[in-house]
Amino acid sequence: MNKSEADLLAEAAAICGRTPGMPQPPPPGVPLTPQAEAALISSRCWSCHCIISISDNYCRHCGKGQGDNIPWRYKHQGIIFYTLIIGPFSLVFVWKSPLLSRTAKIVYTVLLCAATWLLYTKIKDAVYTAMSAYTGSPDLFSGGM
Ligand SMILES: [Zn+2]
Repeated sequence: MNKSEADLLAEAAAICGRTPGMPQPPPPGVPLTPQAEAALISSRCWSCHCIISISDNYCRHCGKGQGDNIPWRYKHQGIIFYTLIIGPFSLVFVWKSPLLSRTAKIVYTVLLCAATWLLYTKIKDAVYTAMSAYTGSPDLFSGGM
């Protein structure tokens, strides 16, 4: 059984609460006017999953941008920028991004984990080399004693 848009709005209002500006569903049994029917066309917020009007640029519940107004950190260039700043912690933006497909999220995750591991081993080798040169011992943990 398909739910009508009015039923979906009533369900969303029960879950998310009423928000100013959202069209209110009519009482049961009252037919919708064409204007009300057009206003009730809705979609879901990618962040809080509350029902919003399809013409909304921002969610009325959580304030997150919709469509072209999605925050920059969830786009490819933002994810790459934050990866350079905070490293693998940018995976949070990858996983929460509404723009990336499941495949893209998996590719980002694998690449970020591989890059993090590579960087970790390079830094570890550099530290070991520097420490062994400083202590004069090939074994880092003997401390040259
Ligand atoms: Zn929202």
